[in-house]
Amino acid sequence: MAENLERLKQRVPLLEYLQRHNWKPCRTGSRQEFVGLCPLHQETHPSFYVNAAKNLFYCHGCGRGGDLIRFVQLFLDLPFRQTVAHLEEELLPDPVFRLLEETAAFYQLQLHRHPEATDYLERRGVHDSSLIEELGIGYAPGGNLRRHLAAWCSSFDQLLEIGLINHHGRDAFCRRLIFPCRQNGQIANLYGRSIGAAFPHRLLPRSKGGLFAWESVSRFSTVILVEGLFDLAVLWQAGFRNTTCALGAQLTPAQWAQLTEQPGRSVYIAFDQDDNQAGQKASHQLALRLENAGLPAHIVQLSDGHDPNSYFVAGARAADFTARLQEADRL
Ligand SMILES: [Zn+2]
Repeated sequence: MAENLERLKQRVPLLEYLQRHNWKPCRTGSRQEFVGLCPLHQETHPSFYVNAAKNLFYCHGCGRGGDLIRFVQLFLDLPFRQTVAHLEEELLPDPVFRLLEETAAFYQLQLHRHPEATDYLERRGVHDSSLIEELGIGYAPGGNLRRHLAAWCSSFDQLLEIGLINHHGRDAFCRRLIFPCRQNGQIANLYGRSIGAAFPHRLLPRSKGGLFAWESVSRFSTVILVEGLFDLAVLWQAGFRNTTCALGAQLTPAQWAQLTEQPGRSVYIAFDQDDNQAGQKASHQLALRLENAGLPAHIVQLSDGHDPNSYFVAGARAADFTARLQEADRL
């Protein structure tokens, strides 16, 4: 029992739990201590203290204190046992996210068992094994996902609804390289790139989520925005870690919000050069919109109709791309 309670408390730190429930903390003098209005009694001056290192709270106003379970017990006015049951349920990871994690891990295991997948990565210029690991790139050979996930008690209907299998129970991703797309640390979608004759791009029928790997890019004041994950992979490999990807040339509202959250951020748009001018048009429109929002926008031109991926595959080096960034036009 005591062990289970410890595990429960570790699943979400007290401070994070309070913030999820809209508690607004201020830092006190010490690095690990926070103060705010007490959620347990009415007050106008903050006297509710949280020690993040110890995972404990104490209110100088109402004199109550303790750990996460004690807080929820007081807040919901529940008996101890019911409080624990309530928290167990509230803090349970979403089963869909768990299924996506399990699927991505399974595909990741398949990658090195199928030479056709690693050969394809090599042809697309992605060869750094630690980068492949970091991006979580996997391979869906097709035909065995359902059997593998049966161990996770996932039902046919659930897999169908998420889009991992089709109506015949066959894998939706077949002969595709898989990139997990994370948002807030959780896999929000899977992108599959066909290595065969099938339509090249495929996402699960969920929202495409935010910008790719935004957590690791958000601190930069200059960001390179590309369309595809192979563009991103070769740029990260060449050291341009401030690259993020929109999975297409049209930004979702969530992606736009992420990109513009830092005032004055410079954005370098390196979209595909399409024969039908679709990429060029999208770059131009986005650049205008960014400039109107007060963000300096630059359009990166690569020679001979290249996108960033094909540019590096054709032999360009980091210095070449840096030169293209330097001569990028601002609107
Ligand atoms: Zn209080």
